[in-house]
Amino acid sequence: MADAITAEGLVKRYGKVTALDGVDLRVPTGSVLALLGPNGAGKTTVVRILTTLLRPTAGRAWVAGADVLDQPATVRRNIGLSGQYAAVDEYLTGFENLVMIGRLYHHGRQQARSRARELLAYFGLEDAGDRPTRTYSGGMRRRLDLAGALVAHPPVLFLDEPTTGLDPRGRTDMWGVLQRLVEGGTTLLLTTQYLEEADLLADEIVVIDHGRIIAQGTADDLKRQVGGERVELTLTDGARLPDAERLLTPLGVGPATLDPDRRGLVMPVGGGATSLANTLRVLDDAAIGLDDIGLRRPTLDDVFLTLTGRSTAEEDGSEPSEGDHS
Ligand code: ATP
Repeated sequence: MADAITAEGLVKRYGKVTALDGVDLRVPTGSVLALLGPNGAGKTTVVRILTTLLRPTAGRAWVAGADVLDQPATVRRNIGLSGQYAAVDEYLTGFENLVMIGRLYHHGRQQARSRARELLAYFGLEDAGDRPTRTYSGGMRRRLDLAGALVAHPPVLFLDEPTTGLDPRGRTDMWGVLQRLVEGGTTLLLTTQYLEEADLLADEIVVIDHGRIIAQGTADDLKRQVGGERVELTLTDGARLPDAERLLTPLGVGPATLDPDRRGLVMPVGGGATSLANTLRVLDDAAIGLDDIGLRRPTLDDVFLTLTGRSTAEEDGSEPSEGDHS
């Protein structure tokens, strides 16, 4: 299958800051790629280069068959872009915003209006469509912004952190919308700081850090690298740890780790909540008391810690130093 997006050796320098340090990407048509990384990793820079908004210092890229540097107008005709900050006109209604975008694409009045209604319905904004967007919630603005990116039916869509800043409800709604889009065959490149989001939506995940790709693969590949999900528990009586280990080992997908000082046991599992429920049942049947139990799924932070030896939180607010790129 042809690639909808190809990037080769993308480099972007701002003076001494190297925002991108040689990024290669391939996104097959109809698939979803998630660029995963902490603040400042270079995700937005990749998106800006691929959407023709920024010229790379070095490297080449093709989107929907056109060269990003030599044929920017062709690229723009084939893409939709929705950013971290929803670009909607506050004083227009949702409907008017979408009609205006349609008109910018030289759609006729009728066509622009019917596409606007269609998109409002698709995004669950029919009721709000005739209200000024300044009355919208953050999640509604994001959905409207995404609707705007879809006005011209672009085959390739770029979404820069589509759910950052949304509450859990808004995030779940947005995931539903994106899943439907993907089922419809749109090629999607999205950036995210959440492994959970990449896991849910992406066929392939590329982890970037300081402008370099540090890992790539499916969500399962990455989770395997960080050890997958696990049940973590603390017993009331540390003397029963060996009993717990013996009884629980058949439920796990690998050996349990014991921490006798904390009366703790960590066991890799494969069944999510079912594994947790089974663990509880086995311990209860054997009258082994618990102080605490939980199911832990790997987070971006776990991926980072494993791959780089530091947590994503350490990145916040810090500019990469020259030493990082030498
Ligand atoms: P975020 O989640 O915060 O958007 P990001 O992964 O998208 O992060 P980028 O915005 O691509 O990161 O930035 C990558 C690096 O390039 C950062 O260190 C950033 O400070 C730097 N950078 C971006 N734009 C400029 C600029 N115009 N001038 C100087 N440095 C810049």
